[in-house]
Amino acid sequence: MQTVITSNGVAIPQLGYGVYLMTSDEVHEHLPQALELGYRHIDTANAYFNEVAVGEEIANSGIAREDIFLTTKLFPASYDADECSNAIDASLKRLGTDYVDLLLLHQPYGKYLEAWPVLEQALADGRARTIGLSNFPMAKIRQIAEIATVFPQVMQVEINPRCNQHKLKQELADHNVAFEGWYPLGHGDPELLHLPVFEELAKKYGKTTAQIIERWHIQEGNIIFPKTLSVEHMQENLDIFDFELTSDEMARIDALPQHPYYTIPDNPPEFFMAKYDYSTQVRPFQNTLLKK
Ligand code: NAD
Repeated sequence: MQTVITSNGVAIPQLGYGVYLMTSDEVHEHLPQALELGYRHIDTANAYFNEVAVGEEIANSGIAREDIFLTTKLFPASYDADECSNAIDASLKRLGTDYVDLLLLHQPYGKYLEAWPVLEQALADGRARTIGLSNFPMAKIRQIAEIATVFPQVMQVEINPRCNQHKLKQELADHNVAFEGWYPLGHGDPELLHLPVFEELAKKYGKTTAQIIERWHIQEGNIIFPKTLSVEHMQENLDIFDFELTSDEMARIDALPQHPYYTIPDNPPEFFMAKYDYSTQVRPFQNTLLKK
């Protein structure tokens, strides 16, 4: 598996398995299939309410913990300085591990300036191997940079051919940030998957349109973890390392009109800020901001 190396030398497998919107039962059913096929990078979050199931399936797999790259994310109600360290410990306990490979602040609201030094502490004491931000706009990344002793090593943001994040990448070019793209397939949007450029390239390379988009991500240097419950799609998504798009083909995809699926709201909706009891592991809200 190809990797992206972070500014502190950690290798992140470029293709992983995301478990957003998966219930614990779905994780129990499908994560073992993904691990069996060779996935070694898992992206979860406190707010996915499935960390316990993820941890149990990692343990059941018999795969050595150090062979898996595991990410989780804290939600804003855990950002206060006096709560954040405990929230990290609670998350590790749910995951059944004493460290995560990547710890992210999930949303750019609340006391993120208090949380960042706590993430730096987790990095220093080994509870996280890398730390970063998710969904932070440039202005808030700058605020973090002002107080940081460690610049965020990873940014997880929406990335797909409709939202290539070239501007953000350019703004952060001096910081050797690893970029992770959520909604790599536009959440499976059929309109995106059937754009003529992808149909044409799929025919040329004998691949599916999803594989063409994933290959574009790999050549863009993005780390992705497409989500699927289908073993066939899991296999397909891994099978993207035996062909290469030309620079002209990459440029054609880069030139597609940009229409992100998600707009980061200035003011957080209530469900982003609420305090949750993660011991229940049943997601109590729908993220109504995300287009399906
Ligand atoms: P995605 O772009 O991965 O799309 C998933 C959809 O694509 C599913 O409906 C699936 O059936 C379909 N699909 C998967 N493989 C396919 C294939 N080969 N051919 C055709 N269709 C295929 O969107 P996502 O799951 O929402 O995002 C991926 C991951 O990103 C999540 O699971 C989660 O880990 C992460 N994420 C993070 C945030 C954040 O705020 N940080 C937000 C959303 C998602």
